[in-house]
Amino acid sequence: MTFGEMPYQRADYEKLKQNYLELIEECQRASDADAIKRVLQKKNALDDEMTDISLCYVRHDMDVNDSFYASEQAYYDETGPLLTELDNRFQELLLEPSRRKAAEAVLGPQVMAMMENAVRGFNESVIELAQEENRLTGVHNQLTSTAVVQWQGREIKRSLMTPYTQSGDREIRKKAYAACSGSWEQQRSRLEEVYEKLVHNRAAQAKKLGFPSFVELSYCRMNRIGYTPDEVREFRDAVKKEIVPLLVKAEENRKKRLGLDHLYVYDGGIAFPQGNPVPDGDTAFCLAATREMYHRLSPETAQFIDFVMENELYDVEIRDGKRGGGYMMSLESYRMPFIFANFDGTSENAYIMTHEGGHAFQYYLKRNEPVREQSWLNSEVAETHAMAMEFFLSPYMELFFGSRAEDYRTLHLEKALQLISYECEQDEFQELVYRNPDMTAKERNELWLRLDGEYMPAKDYAGDVNLLSGCGWQRIQHIYQWPFYAIDYALAQVCALQYKCLMEEAPERAWQSYLTFCKKSGTMDFKSLAKEAGLMNPFKADTIRYLAGRLK
Ligand SMILES: [Zn+2]
Repeated sequence: MTFGEMPYQRADYEKLKQNYLELIEECQRASDADAIKRVLQKKNALDDEMTDISLCYVRHDMDVNDSFYASEQAYYDETGPLLTELDNRFQELLLEPSRRKAAEAVLGPQVMAMMENAVRGFNESVIELAQEENRLTGVHNQLTSTAVVQWQGREIKRSLMTPYTQSGDREIRKKAYAACSGSWEQQRSRLEEVYEKLVHNRAAQAKKLGFPSFVELSYCRMNRIGYTPDEVREFRDAVKKEIVPLLVKAEENRKKRLGLDHLYVYDGGIAFPQGNPVPDGDTAFCLAATREMYHRLSPETAQFIDFVMENELYDVEIRDGKRGGGYMMSLESYRMPFIFANFDGTSENAYIMTHEGGHAFQYYLKRNEPVREQSWLNSEVAETHAMAMEFFLSPYMELFFGSRAEDYRTLHLEKALQLISYECEQDEFQELVYRNPDMTAKERNELWLRLDGEYMPAKDYAGDVNLLSGCGWQRIQHIYQWPFYAIDYALAQVCALQYKCLMEEAPERAWQSYLTFCKKSGTMDFKSLAKEAGLMNPFKADTIRYLAGRLK
């Protein structure tokens, strides 16, 4: 069945609630392992019924101005927290001493640890706050999805500006950058207002749930199992020490390559004097190249991509009113992944199909996994699937970029380095913001500016008012929508880069290790998973030092 053919019917809260209550009652009666197994099977069937919520989420993002899915989404923004609460009541029962052992025998220790976090991180006392939080992230989504820029005498969608901000002509990219910045500056007060409300809302949730701050609540909700904020701080310090100097050096190289005396922020999007590599063709061409690269990589990925293409499990065209960015969504009742992307004609077309494809491939690999709960993922684990795939596919970039494939690989590696540092900056920013929820907007901007100096010392804002005021963080979707979902990218990149190194030494071993990592995901925590797959501990300064040495 193709994505377009999937019928949609509202996942009605009252009906789901009824099912949940019956399930809860049955669980209360279940005392032996067989009864618990039966309850869990019924729970899986109930989860399948909620696929319509995922369908709605994607279709709403495909056109935020479509009033039908907008009102359906608003319905789920309200009922979602109510369902989470019911789900928690169910999970609490499984965690009770009389059932725990039998439940763990089926689900494994990682799922049980995630259930414990779910129960600790949410209860009915925060339902209203969670509903309000959903409304606020909805406002942010609407604001950024509909933002426009005045460009060459007409109004265009801000996310369509990338080809201009990456233009090989410095005057064009300078003007384009200024135009985008002007549009962000115009939205600044609204963005600051929404964020302030989100910070207070999340701080209030933490307080109600008995956490010292939203930082700890976030660690719980993000299922950061097996590591603490202290280890993350050590990791960030190692990045400052080992990666930031390398980044400065990479910027120096880029400057020489571009033949410029100095790099300004508007030069940030460009890596080569003739412009960045762009795909040799349109959307259809890029989709064909996508199919071919997955075919060349391995039999497993060939089968996967045929499945995605034959069922049209993607939306890659950029359109007015479509949400920006990309993600993979699983459609549980169909056991199908869906790739959401925005092809803007830049190298992003290829990149997004390697990254989101990595997420989708892992879901596909585990689609027949009988213990459905073991397809639950932590973000660092999930991002490792995606970011490692970016490197596994980089040998096939000739399919997109022809003679400029090597330029793509250079660009990708430089960006990988930048990403580690940038995501750590976002993590430190959020940690300090949520530990001090009463900061003013001005203080938050000043904080960002200071961290910019530590993590991105080579940046020159060239008189850009918005960035010089410290508003750079306001351009990052994750900071609003998925708090603390930043360090996960940095940690995952450290694993992905290990795969890049291993690929060069022993490609078959690298691929087998990756398959192990993907298949065992959901059965153990991130650190154990890395070890199981034969990777070095991503948190350790030694690991970062080793990678920095290799990348040099
Ligand atoms: Zn991802």
